Amino acid sequence: MAVDRVEGDVLELSEARRRCMERAQPGNPVLRPLDEAAGSYLARAVVLPEDVPPFHRAVMDGYAVRSGDVANASPERPAVLTVIGEVPAGQWLEETLRPGTAVRTMTGAPLTQGADAVVRLEDVRYPAGSQGRPGERIEISVSVKPWEAVQRQGEDLARGSAPLGTGTAVGPSEAALLAAAGAWEVEVYPKPVVAVLSTGDELLDGPGQLKPGQIRNSNGSMLRSMLRLEGWEVRNGGRCPDSVEAVAEAVERAFAGADAVVTTGAVSVGDFDVVPAAMERLGMEILFRRVAIRPGRPVAVGVWGRRMWFALPGNPASAFVTAHLFLLPALRKMAGAAKWDPFQCEALLAGRPPERPAPLTRFWRGRVRIEGGRVTVDAAREQSSSALSSFLGANALAEIPPGENPQPGDPVKVWWLGSAGLL
Ligand code: AMP
Ligand code: MG
Repeated sequence: MAVDRVEGDVLELSEARRRCMERAQPGNPVLRPLDEAAGSYLARAVVLPEDVPPFHRAVMDGYAVRSGDVANASPERPAVLTVIGEVPAGQWLEETLRPGTAVRTMTGAPLTQGADAVVRLEDVRYPAGSQGRPGERIEISVSVKPWEAVQRQGEDLARGSAPLGTGTAVGPSEAALLAAAGAWEVEVYPKPVVAVLSTGDELLDGPGQLKPGQIRNSNGSMLRSMLRLEGWEVRNGGRCPDSVEAVAEAVERAFAGADAVVTTGAVSVGDFDVVPAAMERLGMEILFRRVAIRPGRPVAVGVWGRRMWFALPGNPASAFVTAHLFLLPALRKMAGAAKWDPFQCEALLAGRPPERPAPLTRFWRGRVRIEGGRVTVDAAREQSSSALSSFLGANALAEIPPGENPQPGDPVKVWWLGSAGLL
């Protein structure tokens, strides 16, 4: 049986993620021109209205023939055929191929009725005086099988089939398929608009000289970059002071133009950790406020109808990790994705930090590689939650279950980050 509550109100990761994903729901479908649908998710399976290709067509330059006419052709006894026409791509010949005849047919051109194969130009010879044009003769010294060098109507994708299901991302191959099938408008879910807000009296947002005790706001830039790379529309809510009223007001304002708000900081148990109180003041339902993970134990998610507030911790690595565990998957689901989790697999631990086992799930930042056909992950680096260097260049999170202490060579679960991570 799954343990929901690990200690007090600290939730186990799987339960926290379940609650969060359950509440992330897509908006109402919209019809978009295909060229504007890139990066959106389909709101309806696309049933192909046309065969692809729409007719039998040549895939080589050559002559359309009846394969039976050249079944016994050989260099010693070539088949002699009369050319009755020629078709470039885009043309249509209203003729039917009778025995003993051929049609000069270019790549992409329709196969003349009655023909069932194309003989490549390289396998055709012209008798003296012939250039293989209509009214002239050709010699074919190879036999071809039925449908050789022909792509049959609907062979690639059949009319009525539904190769793209609901929740499929419209990427390059999907766009090609939709265009090929004549689907110039597609029904997709709207992309979420996300506002990013950084709490903290100590933050300097933007350029300028640091005052004593100030630090620069790195979380805002990290999150906006992350969200833009995911393809979402991002609003910069700037910085907000550490008071319940200020945070509640700023978040409420941000919700006016956004489906989701992500904040960093003020969610722990310190004197100025005002996020849970701000959530309550806004009348939001708090799904959880602590999760048994490191980094990222203080992380809260609040819900207001379809809108979600992701309150990530202020420490940069904690914000980075919790964004990957909660924010990005939930936003993908809000965007209508059928799959929202990063790709996960087992990797051999290539290096590890000098840490003692902990009673919660740890996420080591690391680098996955494929070495000698095996996936390895090197997590021998700074792992402090306050260190930017702990995730600089990282492309994976190694998940270390509570109490475990894996050594180099041991298998661990890794979550792939970045664009390679969503499969
Ligand atoms: P908090 O979660 O607000 O207690 O912040 C934890 C630590 O993260 C503190 O050292 C903060 O100064 C730091 N921090 C908070 N917000 C940011 C931010 N936007 N950029 C960089 N560091 C931050
Ligand atoms: Mg703070």
